[in-house]
Amino acid sequence: MILMALLVTASLSIWPVIRAPVEPALSPLIVNDVSQLNPIPVSAVITPTTTAEIADAVRRHAGPISIGGARHSMGGQIATEGALHIDMRRFNRILEFSPANKTITIQAGATWRQIQERIDPANLSVTIMQSYANFTVGGSLSVNGHGRYVGVGPLMRSVKSLKVVLADGSIVEASPIEQTEIFNGVIGGYGGLGVITEATLQLTDNVRVKRHTKIMPITGYRQYFFDHIRGQTSAVFHSGNIFPVDYAVVRAVTFSRTDDPVTVEDRLIPADQTYRLNRLAFWIESEWPFGKLIQRRLVDPIYFDGEPVTWRNYEASRDVAELEPASRTTSTYLLQEYFVPVERFDDFVPQMRNVLRRSNVNVVNISIRHATQDPGSLLAWARTEVFAFVIYYKQRTDGAAQKQVGVWTRDLIEAALSVGGSYYLPYQLHATEEQLRRAYPRAAEFFALKQRLDPTNKFRNQLLDKYYRPAAASVHQ
Ligand SMILES: Cc1cc2nc3c(=O)[nH]c(=O)nc-3n(C[C@H](O)[C@H](O)[C@H](O)COP(=O)(O)OP(=O)(O)OC[C@H]3O[C@@H](n4cnc5c(N)ncnc54)[C@H](O)[C@@H]3O)c2cc1C
Repeated sequence: MILMALLVTASLSIWPVIRAPVEPALSPLIVNDVSQLNPIPVSAVITPTTTAEIADAVRRHAGPISIGGARHSMGGQIATEGALHIDMRRFNRILEFSPANKTITIQAGATWRQIQERIDPANLSVTIMQSYANFTVGGSLSVNGHGRYVGVGPLMRSVKSLKVVLADGSIVEASPIEQTEIFNGVIGGYGGLGVITEATLQLTDNVRVKRHTKIMPITGYRQYFFDHIRGQTSAVFHSGNIFPVDYAVVRAVTFSRTDDPVTVEDRLIPADQTYRLNRLAFWIESEWPFGKLIQRRLVDPIYFDGEPVTWRNYEASRDVAELEPASRTTSTYLLQEYFVPVERFDDFVPQMRNVLRRSNVNVVNISIRHATQDPGSLLAWARTEVFAFVIYYKQRTDGAAQKQVGVWTRDLIEAALSVGGSYYLPYQLHATEEQLRRAYPRAAEFFALKQRLDPTNKFRNQLLDKYYRPAAASVHQ
């Protein structure tokens, strides 16, 4: 009886933590992103399903236009005040799939998950995508995302061609050999040059992968990666998970091709998971006094127990719901990412550690990824071969907390810049203008192209509003 009462009390007290996430009800004219930190009033929202509708809306609308995909950028990149907002989520048809050529052409509001559901029966796989499958292809191209793949780098590398609606309503096809200036500007261009409507992507084979992990001091990670992972064609996914709060130990996690039979039968992660345990684990880690120790000593070893064999598509079909807290009202989980030339790994880590510890950042995890050099996008984050440090942390939502995060974020950007690195743009807009220009030396070229293609500055969002200075005479108010 007592045990029953205790169990009921315990489950009631953790219920607010593990219940399904509830998004606050907003007016349809408030556009917000997943962080819920950036509610932006717009003048109208359209949900086109054809390219003609998009081209027509862009041609006719004289004022600001913003574009949204799955809304997982976290710093106002999807809207600006008073804009006509183009919500791309219903513009999501698969237009052509060629198993023989291993290519797929989709409307840009399609998500990776939709693509996976279509191509998995042909045993094909997306070549490059982020760690989660919820994002739209248009939103992913616009940040030039990357995943945990070994030896492939930014998403741009898997794009055969795309179509974009420019500010005058014209539709242009661009590829690595045609309209290359537009191709290099639109990919990673945060919707600043136009609306990506279609993309043709190179696919690859879906293979079985076996996970193996190794724990090591962070000082040995770079050499381990060079000796055992880089250049290994059998290695498909790899990440290095750095344990907070001493940031001295890494669990290297690699999924390598195998002929072994799968130990997990599902070909994709079932879409209807509740992720209650994940929410509980993140909450304990970020809220309890010894939460990070519990995560490291208890949760992590259980999570990484064994050497499961899964399909590549299974591993690539993760759902961001596994990260989503029950509420983001008083605190919220956010991401940041820094890119560092591979040879400067050991110079960056102590600087990162100092900033995070000095500022008492509530880090949930840091994941190291690897990317090859960007093939030519104007806003390239991988100017050389880089290691990426993806920081997942928790912060309060009040103004004071925001200010404090701004301070340590700029410190981390400085640390990355000091070793010739960069930072990622889809997150909060704490960087100074000067930091953006140092991190993205070709930003001036991108802005000049924007001025030329979009002379009245139609395509806007808060990222562009903060860093782009259009020629005054031609700007729409
Ligand atoms: C939990 C989580 C995990 C993440 N993991 C990764 C990761 O592993 N690797 C990585 O690289 N990134 C990662 N990200 C960042 C993510 O890739 C970007 O936020 C990406 O933009 C999300 O796609 P989206 O469809 O939500 O885009 P949105 O947030 O909707 O849009 C992003 C930008 O693209 C523009 N845009 C959207 N659609 C179009 C279009 N059709 N034409 C022109 N412009 C358009 C928008 O205006 C905006 O500027 C992660 C983010 C979260 C929240």
